Amino acid sequence: MNQPVKITNHLPTAELQALDAAHHMHPFTDNSALAKKGARIMKSAKGVWLTDTEGHKIIDGMAGLWCVNIGYGRKELADAASSQMLELAYYNTFFQTSHIPAIALAAKIAEVAPEGMNHIFFAGSGSEANDTNIRMVRRYWDIKGQPEKRVIIARKNGYHGSTMGGGSLGGMSGIHAHGGKIAGITHIGEPNWWEQGGDMTPEDFGLMRAQELEKAILEIGVENVAAFIGEPIQGAGGVIVPPSTYWPEIQRIVDKYGILLIADEVITGFGRTGNWFGSTTFGIKPHIMTIAKGLSSGYQPIGGSIVCDEVAEVMGSSGDFNHGYTYSGHPVAAAVALENIRIMQDEGIIDHVRNVAHPYLMQKWQGLTEHPMVGEARLVGLMGSIALTPDKASRAKFAAETGTVGYKCRERCFANDLIMRHVGDRMIISPPLVITPEEIDILIERAWKSIDECYTAVKAEGLW
Ligand code: PMP
Repeated sequence: MNQPVKITNHLPTAELQALDAAHHMHPFTDNSALAKKGARIMKSAKGVWLTDTEGHKIIDGMAGLWCVNIGYGRKELADAASSQMLELAYYNTFFQTSHIPAIALAAKIAEVAPEGMNHIFFAGSGSEANDTNIRMVRRYWDIKGQPEKRVIIARKNGYHGSTMGGGSLGGMSGIHAHGGKIAGITHIGEPNWWEQGGDMTPEDFGLMRAQELEKAILEIGVENVAAFIGEPIQGAGGVIVPPSTYWPEIQRIVDKYGILLIADEVITGFGRTGNWFGSTTFGIKPHIMTIAKGLSSGYQPIGGSIVCDEVAEVMGSSGDFNHGYTYSGHPVAAAVALENIRIMQDEGIIDHVRNVAHPYLMQKWQGLTEHPMVGEARLVGLMGSIALTPDKASRAKFAAETGTVGYKCRERCFANDLIMRHVGDRMIISPPLVITPEEIDILIERAWKSIDECYTAVKAEGLW
């Protein structure tokens, strides 16, 4: 037995770090390396600003994990949680039962969703929702008398979560290597022109990558294919904005072969791209959209699948769907999500993204390409990336292993009280949607400084 531990808000950082290292297994982390270094411990937050236990005021360029869309510290959401906990802290939505927050949230999501997408199946997270999607599209085809249609086509370097289903849909070999991958999922190439486009124009490359879907359908046989899944913009893969030709060609192919289209909107949903959904931004017409993160601005864990009328009708035509979670439509999470959407609507947060924050950040973000180490800068809504490179013209990689320079840059960002993430040698941002022009100035100033310090180190270490 360990000694009883009393944690207060006033324990010194080193003690908290020691307890963290002793007992807390972090996700996607080398825990023994972290134990040596000590975790950075966040204590409080307001708006776009985090404060750690050392008193640093950090600008959060990632909105947590792409989720705190309305910013931190909104009392209305705390009040919604508190009153819902007192009213009805929990009830399930199984066994022919419902409750007011789940009903109200489902109706509200249908209001903001694209036309014809009026049905919501709730989950606790994006990963769980994608597990729902695997089972739902297969069940859909069973009911339609085509039970052999089971294969789901996804993309390399896509990310759809880290449950067995979500991790298998994702195209990240590092995830498949830890625990395997479920059967019946095939991955095609990603529309990553910067790294893989060679001498092709972005438009030709986008078309070529989309046509890999058609090739895969023909190879597997359309009679075996249930669905295609993709993120409108790959997020965890590095904020890869597809060439303009990509999604129209995917849509053509999906329509031609009559397979289901799942848009994973876990990041791109709820205003991130300047519309309620990334599918609207890219003109995609999905049958199912995966949602989570911005649905509650991360204040409560909640996700789900927005399902089109036709799929919902089929799913409802043949008895039970043997699937669901204890926390499907959790009343407290649903009440918080509802309040989050109300704030987004009443405060015109998506208009702010479109008319103020995006145009202002776009100009500054593009300005980073004046730095000798920044090759391209992409930004859709408030989701952006820059490519670090030793040679812009040839889009070259550094002499060091991919990710070495990105990691260094991220470390400089941390040191300069800016949270920006790296994926390989791309730096990515996804700040709270409420960020102001003044805060964007601070973010950019810290980003430039960090990139420049990294550049100096890269030159000194001969990695250029
Ligand atoms: N899909 C996408 C596109 C995501 O970005 C994520 C999380 N980053 C997920 C699914 C998984 O969501 P969660 O972590 O809530 O399970």
